[in-house]
Amino acid sequence: MPTDRSLLRFAFSLLLLPACADDPMDGDSTAETSAETAGLSQGESSSGDSSGDETDGSSSGGDESGETSGDTDETSGDSADTSGDTDETSGDTDETSGDTDDTSGDTDDTSGDTSGEPPAHTDPNCVDGMYQESLSANDVDLSDLFAAYQPANRVDFVMEALSRRYPIGHYIVEESSAQSGDDCAAEYVDSGFSDPEDPASLLRGTGTIVHECGHGLNLGMGFIESSHYVINDSLLLKCDRPETIGRGAIDGDEFSPAVFDDFYRDTYLVELGDQGFEMLLEETSQYVNSLATGYAFLDQYDDNSSTSARDGLLSFLWYVERYLYLTRNQYPDSYDALVGDPCWREAILTVWGRGWKYLEATEGLMTLGIDDEEILEALLNPTLLAEIQLVRDAHGC
Ligand SMILES: [Zn+2]
Repeated sequence: MPTDRSLLRFAFSLLLLPACADDPMDGDSTAETSAETAGLSQGESSSGDSSGDETDGSSSGGDESGETSGDTDETSGDSADTSGDTDETSGDTDETSGDTDDTSGDTDDTSGDTSGEPPAHTDPNCVDGMYQESLSANDVDLSDLFAAYQPANRVDFVMEALSRRYPIGHYIVEESSAQSGDDCAAEYVDSGFSDPEDPASLLRGTGTIVHECGHGLNLGMGFIESSHYVINDSLLLKCDRPETIGRGAIDGDEFSPAVFDDFYRDTYLVELGDQGFEMLLEETSQYVNSLATGYAFLDQYDDNSSTSARDGLLSFLWYVERYLYLTRNQYPDSYDALVGDPCWREAILTVWGRGWKYLEATEGLMTLGIDDEEILEALLNPTLLAEIQLVRDAHGC
């Protein structure tokens, strides 16, 4: 690993996942895609600009899902423009680089359990603000596991670390394995860019295991008649599968320009755009797990590196808002199937509330975000936030 901050610029690339669990729903033409292929990006790094603008060149290992692949340089160095940017929509660059991030808010104090306090952007008197969960315990000691580490035992290493730091994630992986009869952790432990000789890299990749096994668990419970969401080890939400339009309908809406380079768009709104709301929420829920796992293993990242753990969750919460806005205005049957059903209202608000717990805990942590400031701003558009309030209103909060 590089040592000189100013020179830093290595990329970890993105995990290209072998298709998460198949999407059993559908039967009908369209959606037999597998439930997504890519996913969790892991962005890359870069130290704070300083030196030079020549930045890119090295930018990420473009094999991320469908999108981009290297090129585009758009140098970055010019941090500044983070804010307003709009223009030049298309070209999904991959603009790694020096994304400014004016850390502003950063608290560094990572650990700590704020489970008792409703996070920002939730209503303390509604499902979202009342959701309780102990945050990942990212200060629990793992030194004995590292001391005893052997590549051949890497699955046990990862699972024990997960058990100590993010027990909900451990539960999800175990349940998924029990359900399928296959060892889900073993299936994904070598995904992405982890190196069996480098146990820390395995922990950095653990978010993929939880995310993918989480899909496997939920979809394995059945998604054809009902949608199942294992939220934590004591909360399973099960709602009748709604008849809703494909999530790709939001692509190109009036809100989309707010994020200059929407990394998730091609995969989830275009390639898999025919999947309905139940899969949009499923993906959102797994991105909460990705961020929770990233937070759990925060100490395994180099200070100068960044991943897109926050970006993923922020993007999907933004998609949920946009989906609600679009359907309320243009597809009332889809909207009513969701917001007219208390089960779906609870599911939406639960994932929203859980997501914000981790977004609040990780605010300002550059290690866990790349373009997160920009996506956060898009998510906090008052017109879109009002959609969540309408869900609360319908729920009688
Ligand atoms: Zn996924």
